[in-house]
Amino acid sequence: MNKRNFLKSVGLGSLAIMQPAIPTLSASAKAPAQPAKTARHRVWINPDEKDTVAELQQRYAAYRKAGIGDIFFEADSEKHFRAAKENGIKAHRWIWTMNRGEKELLASHPEWYAKNRKGESCATHPPYVGYYRWLCPSKPEVINYLKEQAESVLSKDYVDGLHLDYVRYCDVVLPVNLWSNYGIDQSKELPEYDFCYCETCREKYKAQKGIDPLEMEHPDQSPSWRKYRYDRITNVVTNLAQVAKQHKKPITAAVFPTPDIAKRIVRQDWTNWPLDSVNPMIYHGFYKEDVNWIGEAVAEGVNGLHGKFPLYAGLYLPDFKGNMADLEKGVRLALQNGAAGVSLFGHVDSTVLDTIKKASV
Ligand SMILES: [Zn+2]
Repeated sequence: MNKRNFLKSVGLGSLAIMQPAIPTLSASAKAPAQPAKTARHRVWINPDEKDTVAELQQRYAAYRKAGIGDIFFEADSEKHFRAAKENGIKAHRWIWTMNRGEKELLASHPEWYAKNRKGESCATHPPYVGYYRWLCPSKPEVINYLKEQAESVLSKDYVDGLHLDYVRYCDVVLPVNLWSNYGIDQSKELPEYDFCYCETCREKYKAQKGIDPLEMEHPDQSPSWRKYRYDRITNVVTNLAQVAKQHKKPITAAVFPTPDIAKRIVRQDWTNWPLDSVNPMIYHGFYKEDVNWIGEAVAEGVNGLHGKFPLYAGLYLPDFKGNMADLEKGVRLALQNGAAGVSLFGHVDSTVLDTIKKASV
């Protein structure tokens, strides 16, 4: 499994949105193959620069025909973005938000990185895997840095929106399917995976509550210390949403599968974020659940949102093991339970496209 897949799989994950897309046709664009109202699904893609424009035109025309209205690109590729747009698909830039291992940043600002309950920094002691380099969400310098990143992405004319991935803390608990991979039992919050206990976080919490979280006997059981951390991530999202708003472009996020799981294992309080839409990664295999769980998870998310913004069910194609009847069932359950569409991660071929189209009528 490559690094990207691992992340996602680990639910460590990555991935995000949009309102039912209204295709914007540039003068040179071909008419989309589908009317706008049926374009409601999404795909996460790591663009390959080796793809030719002709290949991309053909591929994205087929996507559009299958009802895909938005693509989230994990890297900047003008060729991919423009080919998608010419086929009536919104092209969003998908970024890693809090997990940022860029060498320059590690070298210039190791003090911006989150520290666990043992005092170890992600700059020097990445948890679980070497690319886990989480920033501290409480530091104003970090917020400013992330706003600059958002600004640079959104100022490009071919970028239709900003999609946040890894917009959370390090997993204090991994999805249960992964415990055996690491040989760890996470039935309680272990200090080495519990973040952030840097000086800034501890001081800011102490200023509010009068106690340093490290002085608590059971910091993992403190509701207000949890809430403090939910709010730090929400604050990051709020700041990035302001940048998106200035550009009149949507902001979306890939989040953990249900509001409850997201708060419990990665401290994401996503039903309270100012987004345009959300893509919970409802990767049933990672939680040892069956396909029916997709509908249940969608219902939980939709209920939690109270109509604030649409939800698109993130589906992990490898979890279906090539069983298209199961995929069809998963898409139908998502839609029946209130999802505005699905967002696919994995290899999208013609069989997959035919299946989501079939499931959407
Ligand atoms: Zn911190």
